[in-house]
Amino acid sequence: TKAVWRERLGGSVFARSLGGLFSRNPRLDDDLLDEIETALITADVGVSATTDLVDSLRRRMKGREFADSRELLLALRSDLIGMLRPVAVPLQIDPATRPFVLLTVGVNGVGKTTTIGKLARRFKDENRTLMLAAGDTFRAAAVAQLQAWGDRNGVPVIAQGQNADAASVAYDALQAAKARGTEVLITDTAGRLHTQQGLMAELGKIKRVIQKLDADAPHEVLLVIDGTTGQNALSQLRQFNAAVGVTGLVVTKLDGTAKGGVVFALAREFGIPIRFAGIGERPEDLRVFDAEAFVDALLP
Ligand code: GDP
Repeated sequence: TKAVWRERLGGSVFARSLGGLFSRNPRLDDDLLDEIETALITADVGVSATTDLVDSLRRRMKGREFADSRELLLALRSDLIGMLRPVAVPLQIDPATRPFVLLTVGVNGVGKTTTIGKLARRFKDENRTLMLAAGDTFRAAAVAQLQAWGDRNGVPVIAQGQNADAASVAYDALQAAKARGTEVLITDTAGRLHTQQGLMAELGKIKRVIQKLDADAPHEVLLVIDGTTGQNALSQLRQFNAAVGVTGLVVTKLDGTAKGGVVFALAREFGIPIRFAGIGERPEDLRVFDAEAFVDALLP
């Protein structure tokens, strides 16, 4: 499976710029550190995470810890893995919690609907009973899209049609899932309303209404983030976290032209678990996030 990660992520800005250094056998000097710094910034790692990484390498270089550039690059690789390891915490579904309520949030276009389909497929493959709540009542196609997916895959979808109250859909769905003893309920939400404030207020309301039926729900608030949006991802996480308390992340579109570095910035700034990575459009392309596989795919 590491080969698949490498195949999908190998073309990223990160892999091309920083990965290239590994095969060039550069000199061990300040220019190398400058080059690493530029590569990290270009790949969206962010200024503060980059500064941490480069300062630490500089300190160790001055302390003569590295015999050659190869050793320095290997230290960087292990620092990168070390940054991600604490957030590479897989989603645990407690079988005693029925239903385990997953609230998926994220702005339009990040791949939220696709991710819900991939997750639902994963849970079905794990032989869990499943229900979907069509909580994106704002976007015309969203309810239909979810319903079509549910029909194709034999998964019940609770919907009330367009412009219905999203919190009411979420409440109905939780009630239905409880009644049927369903194991996992995935609740979709809007990614855009008339205003950003309106969206955050609606998400807060959905959460409060769900909690009337189950004080511990939602058991996971999963924010879907587009891996190509760069530092903007940080402000999305900040906003959604303030509104609903994000407990896990899915970073999508890490394949292809992604820069890839935003994952490090997210890990450093928030420390919120990255549950899954989207490395393609097929159902099996939603992978459990693995720090080592990810860094190995970026660096040769
Ligand atoms: P939503 O508006 O957030 O629900 O976004 P969609 O689920 O409709 O996805 C938007 C586009 O992103 C679609 O064309 C998806 O196929 C694509 N997409 C989603 N996840 C990934 C991924 O991991 N990799 C790639 N390459 N495309 C993705």
